[in-house]
Amino acid sequence: MNDYLEQSRSLLKKFFGYDDFRVGQFDIISHILNHEDCLAVMPTGSGKSICYQIPSLILDGCCIVVSPLISLMKDQVDGLNEIGISSAFINSSLSSREYIKTVQNAAKGMYKIIYVAPERLDSDSFFELMSNLNISMFAIDEAHCVSRWGHDFRPSYTNISNVISRLSYRPVVAAFTATATEMVKKDIVSLLNLSNPFCLTTGFDRKNLSFSVETPTNRKKFIYSYVQSHLDDSGIVYCLTRKSVDDLYDNLLRLGVRASKYHAGMSDKDRSINQNDFVYDKTSVMVATNAFGMGIDKSNIRYVIHMNMPRDLESYYQEAGRAGRDGDVSSCILLFHRSDIMTNKFLIEQGSPYVDHSNEYKKLNDIVDYCNTDKCLRRYILEYFGESPVFDLCNNCSNCNSEIELTDITEDSKKILSCIKRMNERYGVGLVADVLKGSRSSKVIGFGFDKLSTYGIMSEYSKSTIKELISFLVSEGYIKNVGDKYPVLVLKPESNDVLFGGKQVFIKRKFEKSDSVVDSTFAKPVDMVLFDILKSLRVEVADKSGVPPFIVFTDVSLKYMASEYPVTVDDFLNIPGVGRFKMERYGFVFLDAVCKYVEDNNIVVDSSSCSQRNSVNKKSSDLEKESTRKISFDLYKSGKSILEIANIRGLTKQTIQNHLLDCYKNGFDLDLEKEIHTEYKDVICDAINTFGTDKLKPLKDAVPNAVSYLDIRYYIYELEKNNK
Ligand code: ADP
Repeated sequence: MNDYLEQSRSLLKKFFGYDDFRVGQFDIISHILNHEDCLAVMPTGSGKSICYQIPSLILDGCCIVVSPLISLMKDQVDGLNEIGISSAFINSSLSSREYIKTVQNAAKGMYKIIYVAPERLDSDSFFELMSNLNISMFAIDEAHCVSRWGHDFRPSYTNISNVISRLSYRPVVAAFTATATEMVKKDIVSLLNLSNPFCLTTGFDRKNLSFSVETPTNRKKFIYSYVQSHLDDSGIVYCLTRKSVDDLYDNLLRLGVRASKYHAGMSDKDRSINQNDFVYDKTSVMVATNAFGMGIDKSNIRYVIHMNMPRDLESYYQEAGRAGRDGDVSSCILLFHRSDIMTNKFLIEQGSPYVDHSNEYKKLNDIVDYCNTDKCLRRYILEYFGESPVFDLCNNCSNCNSEIELTDITEDSKKILSCIKRMNERYGVGLVADVLKGSRSSKVIGFGFDKLSTYGIMSEYSKSTIKELISFLVSEGYIKNVGDKYPVLVLKPESNDVLFGGKQVFIKRKFEKSDSVVDSTFAKPVDMVLFDILKSLRVEVADKSGVPPFIVFTDVSLKYMASEYPVTVDDFLNIPGVGRFKMERYGFVFLDAVCKYVEDNNIVVDSSSCSQRNSVNKKSSDLEKESTRKISFDLYKSGKSILEIANIRGLTKQTIQNHLLDCYKNGFDLDLEKEIHTEYKDVICDAINTFGTDKLKPLKDAVPNAVSYLDIRYYIYELEKNNK
């Protein structure tokens, strides 16, 4: 058991870059490794995938993952291949050529994990393929789909156990779901024919989500203001009808927001373009009906706003739960108006007239109570799902936090209003915020705004906070946005009341007075300027690699970088979410960006936290070495020979050999043996044993001419490694 723990932990670090398992993960892993069937009920974002991915790496053969969501498979498989776990999917989206290639590769045993849709298992040709594979285990994702009592019943799930039983031996089967009542759990065990399974339920709580219910008089205004003050975040706004999606979307575009929309009235093509734009961070907000979301694995969604109350808490928790899958703090905001009750009643009655709707009405009442309660919202949700929370107040929902006092922001409002006036009411929120912040950007200096008396008078705030305050003043009717594509801020007559009439402005929010945001997840404050730099870099890198940005690094990993300032490879490997493969593929670009930022801003990196952090300057030279090795490594991996790399880089062949050997020693994925004259292994090792390793020249003289220095250094390393 302990062996498994150590082995699993080291794989978790190596491939996923995480130090420790989350609640329940290792329980499931260890039972799978002991060949026991499992049923895991764990909430969205709790890390169910790792529960089968780690055993797949340890067990001999290939893990078949049955997943209902074809649209998710590509991202999941891309993500795994990105971190060096060889995987594939087989579904109807493959062309016949791709299909044949994948099947051939699978038969050769090239994959550790294969994702398939349940219907695929029914096909004879796939069964034949499975019969020839060494299948280590079956992981059944979204296992509640097997039950008619669940909300997403999928008939082909009921045939899975039959197919498994026809195999010549029975691999271990593990079932996973985020939602299962007792009845559904029983169905999963019996219909998937799990044999005496280990069952684990870790609870529904999503601690990183903050829940709020708001009752603004004008919901659209609330949304415009919220979205505008969170332009750098990804978010979803759910609307009840297609018409309101179209309407909100058009207005957000007019306000200059990069928005996408999604509803069932759009063509498949448009929906898929919009979905991709959102997943790839080309747009920041998705306005959609509840048709959007199933099969979206975007992990960095920071907020989900419901413009209307949904019909029950199950739907609400599922939709709101799309926020924060990466574990980072995220907001779920429900905008409630009494008219929603009537609309939902109408929708229930629109359903089949022959069905008893009493259960639906009961559920509707429950969500109305959720909107009206003044008790802890998280507690309400958890109790609704049958849990007994150990806390009274979560201190992270709008009811627990409603005690926040009103903050007087009259002085700050005056600063903002007069700055807009001094800029002649001709510029948008970004530039006004830059001037108030005191930015040295070429635009600010070029227009001479650094000469204004309002230049830099809010330098103690972060730019995004200033923008948030401006949006607040817009929503309160002191300022308006004029113009469609590039809206400019113009003062409304009401602003005079604040500037000259002694009117006070209050806000029910707390603001951080710096560019650093204190978040309890991170040991040190997150440097939001660096975070923004890393986020833009992530979009560039993702674009080049053709994967969604959150696959490169999650928001959480970037925030760790922006709070820990890793300036060496070792420090960087300590960032959660950075494993060996991610380090090789992307790490160096980000490491360079952090180092540049640290140097440009004279940030003193904490030397006590890492023995290697002596001074940033020393690190720079180390880094140069690391980067130059990495360039050689990348070229080598792209198929260039050592000689070609030497020519391209204007370096000697021996230098490139040294680079590659260093990378090999540092655990990079490199098949160096093919460069080695292995036929001389014995001669070289004998010479090493006779002459020692102090000097290489005597060794070189003692072996045939064909033996290179690379051969010698390679075997020195291998011998040292074996002697350890
Ligand atoms: P689920 O399938 O349960 O919704 P995922 O498997 O998609 O959740 O994991 C959600 C997020 O949590 C992913 O970004 C994943 O990398 C991260 N994660 C999983 N396990 C850990 C862990 N032990 N430590 C830190 N992050 C983790």
